[in-house]
Amino acid sequence: MNPCETRLKDMILQNGPIDVGTFMTLAIGHYYSTRDPFGVKGDFTTAPEISQMFGEMIGAFLADSWIKMGSPSPVLLAEAGPGRGTLMADILRATKNVPGFHAAIRIHLIEMSPVLIDRQRGALKDYDVAWTDRLENLPEGLPLLFVANEFLDALPIRQFQFQDGAWFERLVGFDGEKFVFGLAPAPYPLPGGRAGDVFEIAPQREGFVKGLAARIRAQGGVALLVDYGHDRHGPGDTLQAVKDHQYVDVLSHIGEADLTSHVDFESLARAAENVAVYGPVGQGNFLKAMGIELRAQRLNQPVALERLTVQMGQLFRVVALCHDEKIQLAGFE
Ligand code: SAH
Repeated sequence: MNPCETRLKDMILQNGPIDVGTFMTLAIGHYYSTRDPFGVKGDFTTAPEISQMFGEMIGAFLADSWIKMGSPSPVLLAEAGPGRGTLMADILRATKNVPGFHAAIRIHLIEMSPVLIDRQRGALKDYDVAWTDRLENLPEGLPLLFVANEFLDALPIRQFQFQDGAWFERLVGFDGEKFVFGLAPAPYPLPGGRAGDVFEIAPQREGFVKGLAARIRAQGGVALLVDYGHDRHGPGDTLQAVKDHQYVDVLSHIGEADLTSHVDFESLARAAENVAVYGPVGQGNFLKAMGIELRAQRLNQPVALERLTVQMGQLFRVVALCHDEKIQLAGFE
């Protein structure tokens, strides 16, 4: 047993089975805090690690948004879950010739993993960067440019299952030998379901977007969120674990495999109270609207273009939030 599993086992033996959200928080916390998981030798590859073009298109989007906001200076440029810092480095490189932009930005990263903060420090060594582990700690009072790629999918969910005419919550227990899923009566009433339905809620995800929307409303700004998921709310078990680029059992390799779930963009749009919501649109359409095809020709990167716009083109969704619905954001026409 690894240290994360031992801790989990002790917790369960002392206090009983835990909900899926608590389980994910512990497993993901351990996972990201103890490794750099990206790339061929790691567990999975993300869009910014596939090609610089991804960050370049997002850099163009952010600079264009900034100009449409009236080029405020100073402006907060924040990213949540920056991984290796590749996306931010590409954004900064792509925007260095935008007049006034680099002089205006104050770069803030939201990250919980000490290992990845080190990587980010290396990737961004030419810039002034501040780190925090939560959205609430970002400075207040400045307009905001915000980006997150594959961050929301890593925030914990809770799962409910409809069975024998009632809703139960899925829990993680320990049977003396191994970790097992179990069910307990749902702690609060839920709308009707059909036998076998799994219903997921993501209070932390919604809380994050709610907080983000509140800031954008108060400070003005634009946020771009990219993740995999579905545009409409619906039943389904989307909890998944990935290790060495393969799906693995969620309860094996706890804390040693990446654990995520699909983002429910309908719930997120609802959580984004009193701000304009753009999209979701497919990542493929967004990147094409930003001009990735021409860039791919110049760089001679047809394979990366195909991965970003076709293979990942539909499952990955792009959403933007803005304080002002009259601003026509690039990429969402
Ligand atoms: N955006 C990067 C990395 C995605 S992986 C890319 O596209 O390559 C998820 C990132 O979110 C990692 O940096 C991880 O350490 C961070 N993360 C996950 N949960 C977090 C949390 N609760 N608070 C802060 N950072 C978190």
